[in-house]
Amino acid sequence: MKIKNIDHIGIAVKSIEQAGKFYTDVLGLDIEDIETVVEQKVNVAFIPITDSEVELLESVEPDGPVAKYIEKRGEGIQHIAFRVDDINQCLEELKTKGVRLIDQAPRHGAGGAKIAFIHPKETNGVLVEICERD
Ligand code: ZN
Repeated sequence: MKIKNIDHIGIAVKSIEQAGKFYTDVLGLDIEDIETVVEQKVNVAFIPITDSEVELLESVEPDGPVAKYIEKRGEGIQHIAFRVDDINQCLEELKTKGVRLIDQAPRHGAGGAKIAFIHPKETNGVLVEICERD
């Protein structure tokens, strides 16, 4: 597999409107877009920084995965995403290496990406996402 770059860092927040102000007003970055990923019950705000992004993740339902994450661990960095050329090939290689996966096959993520998560027990507690974009 070839890891190309850090695609994004996912940060769980209670409110994109409130949390976004630090990135826009203090750091001078732009929120390029906000998208709802219905499947994940989450709004995602994209804040590009060169060839990476910060993604602010705000739950749209009290029982969504991001809401549960905040309940358990508070707001903060929720996952890190590495971009690859070919997610299917990457997942096959991870399986061959015996790495436990949350997603056995790619699913649709925000921004039209194909994504899959590796089990955090494999990564010293870090939720790692593999992501492919056109
Ligand atoms: Zn992500």
